[in-house]
Amino acid sequence: MKKEMESLICRETDSIRQVMQVIGAGRKKIAFVLEANSDKIVATVTDGDIRRALLNGIEMTDSVDKCMYKNFVFKKKDDAVMPDLTGRSGVEIIPVVDEDMMLLGYEEVYENSYVPVASPQFGGNELKYLTDAFLSTWVSSTGEYIDKFERMFADYCGTKYGIATSNGTTAIHLALLALGIGEGDEVIVPDITFAATINAVLYVGATPVIVDIEEDGWCISPEEIRKAITPKTKAIIPVHIYGQACDMGQIMDIAREYNLYVIEDCAEAHGAEYKGQRVGSFGHINCFSFFGNKVITTGEGGMCLTNDKEFADRIRLYKDHGMSKNRRYYHEVVGYNYRMTNLQAAIGVAQLERMDEILAWRQALEDSYFEHLQNVDGIVLQKRDMPGRKKIVWLVSVLVDSEKREDIVQHMKEKGVDIRRFFIPLSEMDIYKEYVFSNEVSKKLSTQGINLPTTFDLTEEMVSEICKNIIQVVSC
Ligand SMILES: *Cc1c(COP(=O)(O)O)cnc(C)c1O
Repeated sequence: MKKEMESLICRETDSIRQVMQVIGAGRKKIAFVLEANSDKIVATVTDGDIRRALLNGIEMTDSVDKCMYKNFVFKKKDDAVMPDLTGRSGVEIIPVVDEDMMLLGYEEVYENSYVPVASPQFGGNELKYLTDAFLSTWVSSTGEYIDKFERMFADYCGTKYGIATSNGTTAIHLALLALGIGEGDEVIVPDITFAATINAVLYVGATPVIVDIEEDGWCISPEEIRKAITPKTKAIIPVHIYGQACDMGQIMDIAREYNLYVIEDCAEAHGAEYKGQRVGSFGHINCFSFFGNKVITTGEGGMCLTNDKEFADRIRLYKDHGMSKNRRYYHEVVGYNYRMTNLQAAIGVAQLERMDEILAWRQALEDSYFEHLQNVDGIVLQKRDMPGRKKIVWLVSVLVDSEKREDIVQHMKEKGVDIRRFFIPLSEMDIYKEYVFSNEVSKKLSTQGINLPTTFDLTEEMVSEICKNIIQVVSC
């Protein structure tokens, strides 16, 4: 029997204590139970089986046959397919046997997706800087990496000030607080976004106004913003969705005309540009997220960018308990603890060092997907040539016929590939629907959109295979 099997097997005469040692030493939370004098498998036993038996009064010195599971699933060595695992959730490993139930090996079950829709890539100095920050003992929210990350990110986007936060949601919350937006104020948000955008508006007691998106760019529609403005409107939160920059020219014009604040939500578009200028540098305060599935990550994390010193100071005040800069433990406002740690910032600095490289592999991946999917009837690629806009790739995104979408998602799920549906429009959720102003386009597009796996380790063969499968469903 192969060496790696040793850590998986025990004998039916073994004591529960011995079996627990086997399970504890192995990679899987299971042991195969063999007959005392042969390699014939008679049962399996998991740590859960043992725990339940011990609770029922069985002793550690009792033999394992008191708690082992005889009705286990197995695979005959010549079976081409895996046995049916319906109703056996949690099974991760299956013994492979011959005609006489002699144990030959095992197969692992990939129940969950092995191609996730997104995953972080740490190919640079991430671990080095993280270790450095750790060893420095500056593990909380002061430290050289915080300052460095704030400086580097503000420089990258082209703003004077960067204020790191605990996540992207708190960054938006802080932006609204710093701008003094609250009860009685209206804030315009797009219907297609992640819920954090609208939630932050609700945190400060303001009234969100949900407006429709553009048919081609999928971002908030400037025409709809214009229509939704009332005397109570105080701010617009354009969201650069799925890597696409909003029409910042028109949006800033509207904001100037009506004297409104603009808070860019850049959580999905690090590095995207409008007329050669990076997103995050247009609005009064602009917010980023560094969650694990974003373009770059710090684990959890966020950032506010601004060119206005007063706004920057207020963001810092609110993010650090409202504590006065000049008098310690004197609190000027009811603040929050929305700080990023030095450990997170250390990862962020390393990620930012490789920003160009990260955007490049993302772009190459999209190129590769789009090459397969272009000119396919029933598939519309995300637009890459919106006038004045340079999108980046967050998650590769396309539209398909809404009647086909569920089939695609399910078909790919069976293959272990995680395909994401577009965000559900805010206007379709009970807790937000009272705030809708317009949602015609968003309602339609949200039933058609999918995000394809956008991970660094995806090979050209896998992209080709995924596309082949999608095309097959689309064209049947
Ligand atoms: C991810 C995301 C956020 C929230 O960021 P967190 O760091 O997860 O709090 C906000 N807005 C949009 C559009 C996002 O995609």
